Amino acid sequence: MSLFERAELAPADPILGLTEAFTVDKRAQKVNLGVGVYLDEDGRLPLMRAVQEASERITQAARPHAYQPIDGMPAYRSAVRAMVFGESDAISDGRVVTVQSLGGTGALRIGGDLLRVLSAGPKLLVSNPSWENHRAIFSRAGFEVDTYRYYDAELKGIDFEGMIADLDAAEAGTVVVLHACCHNPTGYDLDAAQWDRVIEVLISRSLVPFLDMAYQGFGSGIAEDGAVVDRFTSSGLMFLLSTSYSKSFSLYGERVGSLSVVVEDSTVAARVLSQLKTLIRTDYSNPPTEGAAIVSTVLLDEELRSMWADELSHMRTRIQTLRTSLVAALTERGIDDMEFIAQQRGMFSYSGLPREQMVALRSEFGIYGLDSGRICVAALNDRNLGYVADAIASVRA
Ligand code: PLP
Repeated sequence: MSLFERAELAPADPILGLTEAFTVDKRAQKVNLGVGVYLDEDGRLPLMRAVQEASERITQAARPHAYQPIDGMPAYRSAVRAMVFGESDAISDGRVVTVQSLGGTGALRIGGDLLRVLSAGPKLLVSNPSWENHRAIFSRAGFEVDTYRYYDAELKGIDFEGMIADLDAAEAGTVVVLHACCHNPTGYDLDAAQWDRVIEVLISRSLVPFLDMAYQGFGSGIAEDGAVVDRFTSSGLMFLLSTSYSKSFSLYGERVGSLSVVVEDSTVAARVLSQLKTLIRTDYSNPPTEGAAIVSTVLLDEELRSMWADELSHMRTRIQTLRTSLVAALTERGIDDMEFIAQQRGMFSYSGLPREQMVALRSEFGIYGLDSGRICVAALNDRNLGYVADAIASVRA
């Protein structure tokens, strides 16, 4: 057998594989509720006005295509750091290292690699359930990935006592991945008091938190969603934070995100930064320009920033309206046990529909959600919502 003949066929990515199946589906009424992408009223990927304006300014400036520094564009790094950490003393004390990353995924991966370089783990916990890629990313980075309890299917909410018990039982040094807001896939977030309790356990058990914030602004607002980061910095914890601007700037293909590491002091910060640079240099050398230039142009210009904040706020409130409209449409069709959809936050809803019904939605109606029951509410609109409600009513009958 030759070298390449040894390659086994790897399983298709569960979410992107679904999109492939959706693309070849010939049915006119098909609906893709699988992938986590916000679509506008016309079912199209939005080009945000603030983003378009920033791109035009960048094009007009006609700069040559130089290499970026290994850790990314300085203006971008400081703009996103200011947005995420606000006025925190950790910034003025030089305790926060921020590097530009290839989306949220890239931030998780270099964060995972950094932790392994520092011999963290090898145990790492993700919520049960979590974004599918968490397990794969951290396993690839060399962690033994396990879960802590999170979703309670009976309760249609968070099994908070179970979560605390699992964190409390974790070995010191275990890395714990936490969704900062808009939990993917369930749509259920911790409240302020619950975050405080989680922080207490993280400190008392000497665990290493890794906050993943891919949806800042989609929960309750940019500052409101970011408040969890303040809780962590003011608690004195050392932690990692990944951010993604794929969704909040609708810049999916530009691969723009960041990784921050909050450490003891500025000397440790300098050493951590040097390790991150080594990882990046040997991985992809330095990050791309366009997405970071757009995000920093928007964040550093008062007018564009407020335009962007308004557009993001529109997306958030529209998703909330879609949630209530879906619940109303289901109620009209005699389904009165899915009101929880209106309580969830972010792009996703854990619909509670079992696998057979999700498969039936796909095969009979061309409605593509995940087998776990996750649907992307942000892909609904006035034209497809009634059809989706009819289909759910039919598969549940
Ligand atoms: N983290 C979570 C929880 C996500 O849902 C996603 C994307 O779906 C990511 C990270 C990755 O974001 P990106 O597409 O920017 O890599």
